[in-house]
Amino acid sequence: MSENAWNPGSWRSKHAAQDVVYPDREKLDKVLAKIRTLPPLVSPSEIERLRTQLAQVQHNRAFLLHAGDCAESFDACTHENISNKIGLILSFSLIVIWGARMPVVRIGRIAGQYAKPRSSPTEKVGDRVVTSFRGDNVNGLDPDDRTPDPNRMLSAYFHSTATLNHVRSLLTSGFASLHHPKDWSLTHVRSPALREEFGRITEGLSDALEFTRTIGLGKDSVSYEQGGGRGALGEVDFYTSHEGLMLDFEEAMTREFAIPSSLASYTSDGTRTPPPRVHYNTSAHFLWVGDRTRQLDGAHIEYFRGIRNPIGVKVGPSMDADELVRLLEIVNPNREDGKVTIITRYGAGKVEACLPGHIKAVQVSGHPVIWISDPMHGNTLTSSTGLKTRNFGTIISELTSAIRIHSECGSRLGGVSLEFTGELADDGFSVTECLGGSMKLSEDQLPLRYQSFCDPRLNFEQSLDVAFLISDHFKK
Ligand code: PEP
Ligand code: MN
Repeated sequence: MSENAWNPGSWRSKHAAQDVVYPDREKLDKVLAKIRTLPPLVSPSEIERLRTQLAQVQHNRAFLLHAGDCAESFDACTHENISNKIGLILSFSLIVIWGARMPVVRIGRIAGQYAKPRSSPTEKVGDRVVTSFRGDNVNGLDPDDRTPDPNRMLSAYFHSTATLNHVRSLLTSGFASLHHPKDWSLTHVRSPALREEFGRITEGLSDALEFTRTIGLGKDSVSYEQGGGRGALGEVDFYTSHEGLMLDFEEAMTREFAIPSSLASYTSDGTRTPPPRVHYNTSAHFLWVGDRTRQLDGAHIEYFRGIRNPIGVKVGPSMDADELVRLLEIVNPNREDGKVTIITRYGAGKVEACLPGHIKAVQVSGHPVIWISDPMHGNTLTSSTGLKTRNFGTIISELTSAIRIHSECGSRLGGVSLEFTGELADDGFSVTECLGGSMKLSEDQLPLRYQSFCDPRLNFEQSLDVAFLISDHFKK
């Protein structure tokens, strides 16, 4: 095998940061053998469709919304949680579509976002030091259940399947219909101003739909999405993603297929060249590599360079401009459009110092990329009562700086990556994990409905605040 040859397992000869050590290797191998036989969760044609749509984002013809929980849990795999999440993503995207007059490509952190990178392999719980919680697909949140168990990977597969099945059924049963956006329930939103603003949009939309019907374009004949086919008005595209952290699992879900035949090419004498065979990660449409695992010579980048899926690369303040370009050379040597999304996450205080250099280096290299801002991960803090939180104002500050810096550098911010949730507490109100926003959430309100077991998420109202801000900014 030449040194540069790739296969789904070639990452094994490299160092894997954030590696999980399983005490029972035989049990692990058994589980992985089982996963290799299970059906794909997503199809090559869906993945190709996303690549095409991301190329539209890259060419300034669409906006990318990447959003969902920091981490999903098996217990949160319920009808209510999934439909609230989808409802929020749809409401958010509708606000942006309406303001920016631009299609929104929606990628959820959903149906597989279980594993978490941790800053330390151990943590203190009370006066005990235990192995850190690494996500439901690795070990348990309960401090007595921290030994990595391979069966959790199998459980992750089936929870992803159940989630995805429910998402697919919601999207094909009218829930996502732009004719009934009021079904996405804003009843718990207490701010009359937010409700009113959203109401204005849905009314405007109903008028617009009525108008297109009146002039004879027909109810479902107008596609506002790219790529035609499904995604006509009244039905929407939705894609799944997770951090490609657990390479054992990702390898087992990687399958070889011919690129769907619509892409087969014809030579000048009319003969058909069979489409090339490539490797798809069939567990999600989009995967990203985290800021802690993106070492150029590491196992994760080795795995990522060989898959056909569009990928995200998290980029924080420790990334050198030069290193970023070398990374792009490795993961996208043929410079394909729609392939790489750079997800910047510096922190509001560092974006000014880091982003211009990264943009300029990529511009000089000529690499085609989509730039999106993750204004969450560089802005985490601990409240005076010890809760992990984020401040709405700081999140907005990084986001608006990113928008401005891109335009100053002759670039464009193509989207956002957010941790938000439509989840409601038992009393029917939104969770309280991030400070501020139009609801002015204060430190003493944080413990009221703090439900995240991982990073703090924007709640429903705070997310719509961000949507209106983006919508206003891109208003044509
Ligand atoms: C995340 O997106 O949840 C995450 C851990 O991000 P990062 O790799 O940017 O820290
Ligand atoms: Mn997170």
